[in-house]
Amino acid sequence: MDSKEVLKEYFGYDSFRAGQEDIINAILEKKDVLAIMPTGAGKSLCYQVPAMMLSGITVVISPLISLMQDQVKSLNDVGINAAYVNSTLSESEIDGTLNMVLNGIYKIIYIAPERLESAKFCEFSKQADISMVTVDEAHCISQWGQDFRPSYLNILSFVKKLARRPIISAFTATATSKVRDDILQILSLERPVILTTGFDRSNLTFKVKHIKDKDSYILDYLVSHRQDSGIIYCATRKNVEKVYDMLNANGLSVTKYHAGLSAEERKENQDSFIYDIKPVVVATNAFGMGIDKSNVRFVIHYNMPQSMENYYQEAGRAGRDGENSQCVLLFSAQDVIIDRMLLDNKDFSDVDEEDEFLIRQRDIRRLQIMEGYCKTTGCLRNYILEYFGEKTFGPCDNCGNCHREYHETDMTREAKWVVNCVAETRGRYGLTIVLGTLLGAKRARLRELGADKYKSYGCLLYTSPSPRDRQ
Ligand code: ADP
Ligand code: MG
Repeated sequence: MDSKEVLKEYFGYDSFRAGQEDIINAILEKKDVLAIMPTGAGKSLCYQVPAMMLSGITVVISPLISLMQDQVKSLNDVGINAAYVNSTLSESEIDGTLNMVLNGIYKIIYIAPERLESAKFCEFSKQADISMVTVDEAHCISQWGQDFRPSYLNILSFVKKLARRPIISAFTATATSKVRDDILQILSLERPVILTTGFDRSNLTFKVKHIKDKDSYILDYLVSHRQDSGIIYCATRKNVEKVYDMLNANGLSVTKYHAGLSAEERKENQDSFIYDIKPVVVATNAFGMGIDKSNVRFVIHYNMPQSMENYYQEAGRAGRDGENSQCVLLFSAQDVIIDRMLLDNKDFSDVDEEDEFLIRQRDIRRLQIMEGYCKTTGCLRNYILEYFGEKTFGPCDNCGNCHREYHETDMTREAKWVVNCVAETRGRYGLTIVLGTLLGAKRARLRELGADKYKSYGCLLYTSPSPRDRQ
């Protein structure tokens, strides 16, 4: 069977999507590959199809138990024998699984990165005929990626222990050059074929709304899109509960998902969304990885996400079927504060101090880029694509900004006073003094410096910009 026949026979699809065939061919020519393709592009098939055609087995390293389970289930559903090894299995179940791999029953085996180090798996891999090691969600290897998993760093040493060097294939949706370079270097890919498919999702319409009453917006939106399936992302569990209650109280059929719910409840709610029993889910970003629902018509962000990577991945869950869909981000200044707080409380127990500093700086930079997205008046699509390193050609005419759906506020007067104040300080003082002066703060330090005598003292105290609708 050639790869097209495998595609049809097992997966039931008639043709490959952009990039898939090139990746598969490279793997079949025994080349290492790095594929950077957006979420939903169909990365799994790029290693599953060749896995069926290579002589030995394929070991897939995957970061999340739920992802492994979903993938194995969908492979089993189409009649491919696949299995996973992770902490949900007992030791004897793991023994059983590994034995079945050695006996040629499973062609594809998914494994959590931590398990690669285990004595049992090392023993197994000495005996097994491993044709390919696939690193899924390969950005987890990079400390520049927000999903950094230290145990991904052990993949290369695992590969080196194997009797025969397998093909290494790596897949990710994160396209920034730092992450890409890390993957290439840390996995030590040999003359890899690198393939990036376009990040543009032309069927998605992007919008940013600066509104105070987010609840009314969501309510109106859902009422006027009653037939549609959608996801509402909130930054915190508390917000999820609040929005969920509000929508339920208004008689809308919604479900909810966050890490505070029991495993059963999460599974049940996820299924009722996937099978359209409840067309809308209110969720934290714990929801979505590995979820494949093609007819999601809208993704609304109740709060600003912490990075463009997060945003594009979450928003990108809309319109996987290619139909027109909306991605709306509801922005308020408060979101930036919430995000800062979430970053401040981030768990760094696995990371050494020097890295922690770098990662924190990176996180703040990312947040600023996200804030920039919410405040730009330029084309939103181009903002995203340029961030991911793509060339853009003119405004897209399919986003809120291209359609001029934003408010414009004239801040000339304020800007002049800021400049004047800095001039009056002769550039000697920093932000605190300048701000204090402009706001007319009654502080001893300002009097000491004579700032209370400046013309700019207190000039911005009563400023309340009046937004003018540009439409
Ligand atoms: P990714 O890992 O890139 O986010 P997946 O591999 O999970 O994406 O694939 C997303 C969806 O696209 C899956 O439902 C998959 O079955 C479907 N898909 C992948 N390749 C094809 C194809 N050639 N034709 C039709 N559907 C495909
Ligand atoms: Mg995937």
